[in-house]
Amino acid sequence: MKTTDQYSRRKFIHTSLSLGVSAASAFALSGLASSCQGKTQPESKSEEKTSAPQVGKKLGIALVGLGQYSSEQLAPALKETTHCYLAGAVTGTPDKAEKWKKKYDLPHDNVYSYETFDAIKDNPDIDIIYVVLPNAMHKEYVVRAARAGKHVICEKPMAITVADCDEMIAACKQAGKMLSIGYRLHFDPYNKEMMRLGQDKIFGEIKRMEAENGQKKVDGWRLHKELAGGGPLMDLGIYCVQGVRYTTGLEPIAVIAQEGQKTDLKKFSEVEESITWQMEMPGGIVAACKSSYSENYNKLRAEAAKGYFELSPAYAYKGIRGKTTDTSLNFKSINQQAAQMDDFAQAIKDGRPTPVPGEMGRQDVKILQAIYESMRTKQRVAIA
Ligand code: NAD
Repeated sequence: MKTTDQYSRRKFIHTSLSLGVSAASAFALSGLASSCQGKTQPESKSEEKTSAPQVGKKLGIALVGLGQYSSEQLAPALKETTHCYLAGAVTGTPDKAEKWKKKYDLPHDNVYSYETFDAIKDNPDIDIIYVVLPNAMHKEYVVRAARAGKHVICEKPMAITVADCDEMIAACKQAGKMLSIGYRLHFDPYNKEMMRLGQDKIFGEIKRMEAENGQKKVDGWRLHKELAGGGPLMDLGIYCVQGVRYTTGLEPIAVIAQEGQKTDLKKFSEVEESITWQMEMPGGIVAACKSSYSENYNKLRAEAAKGYFELSPAYAYKGIRGKTTDTSLNFKSINQQAAQMDDFAQAIKDGRPTPVPGEMGRQDVKILQAIYESMRTKQRVAIA
């Protein structure tokens, strides 16, 4: 069996390489600059209990918001993790609290409501708070989690404005806690292969990319601008922006976007129903992207000087398939969420940066905002 140290070192080197650190790409540099590396001295007794987890200990995660993603993906994944476990939950629904206590054997004291949330600072079982709420609520709960002296994982999109992202990053920094974004695909072998093929230029220079993510089934808060920040672009299109960034290892220079026609004016009264956009990348690479709440599609494709490589579906939890000019890609499917949470727990234990830090989430939100600005103004928008 590998020791924790051997495992961590190998995995860190692998992650760093897959993110293109050797190539010193702008993306990798921004991706590896963790938000919250600075350690501060514990100011209160409660922080003393929580801020120095032991290397061998499994870290406790509390999920905030027990909706679909928490119930169907994260909580089950936490049964498969090695370095962390489900230690608590935060919910506004008393029935759910009871159900989760029973189902996951959670102690009564580790289940909080939104009102009692801040008391989590006194709970030494909880090392990491994972915010899985509607997008516009991420900022408040990440800031409160940091103030409670906990490390934080925040779901994508990190927030609905760049200013919110800045506050979240600053709060974690001030607390001396790490912040990561729920970018599970950075741990998926197929998407890691796209990073390798693209960033190491295995098929030569990339000329063109296509990234598309659309899903028909949508309801609830995702259709309300105040909570979602926008439509399919915020929810699904973010995967396209990420895909282009991690395949090329480059940052977009400018974007130009077009809103699709609405086929259901009532349902899509607050957010776009569909959107297409193009990203100008360094070296003349053009990325053609689209996202929709009324069509199903799921693809990430790169065309390079000596061939193509692509995934379709590219962003799914399971069943990702890939091919290149030469061959089909075949990797063992993994539990992406378990790998993502385990990597964060290990990063905390090892005192190394997370490959998916707040700064990466902030950059995506900045790009999404530029896409919306272009959609509104019908102008090319440069990304400063
Ligand atoms: P959901 O609607 O199923 O769950 C949202 C939860 O927030 C519910 O438990 C709800 O009760 C709670 N909530 C608290 N206040 C609320 C309010 N004012 N309005 C609505 N709900 C409120 O949503 P979800 O699909 O679990 O998504 C939650 C977050 O996770 C989103 O940010 C989403 O983008 C993200 N997500 C990420 C992935 C991924 O693959 N990384 C997948 C799905 C969702």
